[in-house]
Amino acid sequence: MRMLTAVFGAALLGTILPGAGLAQQVIPLHADTAGLRATAQSVINSFHARAAAAGLDLGVVPAVEVRSTPQLIFYSPNNGKIVMPWWDDVAPEVRTVFARLGGGDAEGEQVFRAFFHRFFLAHEAGHWLRYRSDTRKETLYAGEDDANRIAVAFWRTQPDGEAFLAELERMLAGIVARIPDPTPAGEDPVAYFGANYQELGRDPMKYGYYQFRFVLDAVRERSTLDLDTILAGLASRS
Ligand SMILES: [Zn+2]
Repeated sequence: MRMLTAVFGAALLGTILPGAGLAQQVIPLHADTAGLRATAQSVINSFHARAAAAGLDLGVVPAVEVRSTPQLIFYSPNNGKIVMPWWDDVAPEVRTVFARLGGGDAEGEQVFRAFFHRFFLAHEAGHWLRYRSDTRKETLYAGEDDANRIAVAFWRTQPDGEAFLAELERMLAGIVARIPDPTPAGEDPVAYFGANYQELGRDPMKYGYYQFRFVLDAVRERSTLDLDTILAGLASRS
């Protein structure tokens, strides 16, 4: 039924918001920051419970705070917080970037909410998991790739996870097709990103290309990603 709704929704809305019928179900809208904070906290609590069930004690659950910062979303081990942004408070130039990524203003906000109000929460929980289990990766790329894969594995455990990941895959394919690939011909994107990280970080479109492409790789490989296997592997070490 979900697929049918998506098809008819797309047909009715034409080119304005393709796939909006499905997107509205898996990308919840929040009326205010308190509502978003409560939903986000329940995601982090679920992650903690899943780890506990696998025999892994992650300690105190990070408190989610809704506050727009230049990093948009991050986990801070020092104060045990996950800070996430609110669309109305992000800088106009950031909104412009999202409009370009999404292919329009409404689509840009939809991309923002899909990733920064939902998907990346589990990515930050992945950083928390690696910090608490003292198994952080050696390179920046490896750490981010790992957090993306943990996030995909987590969302697969959720009741609407497959529909959500399918919607992300659709969005991500559009994003990476819409913005130019900054990788020079013949170079490996992972190696190029690692070697030019500082320079790429100054250009949000270039930096965004890699971040979203790496998420797309993880989403496409989701059938191989199992959260309980990852958690059990860490629990057996301690
Ligand atoms: Zn990260």
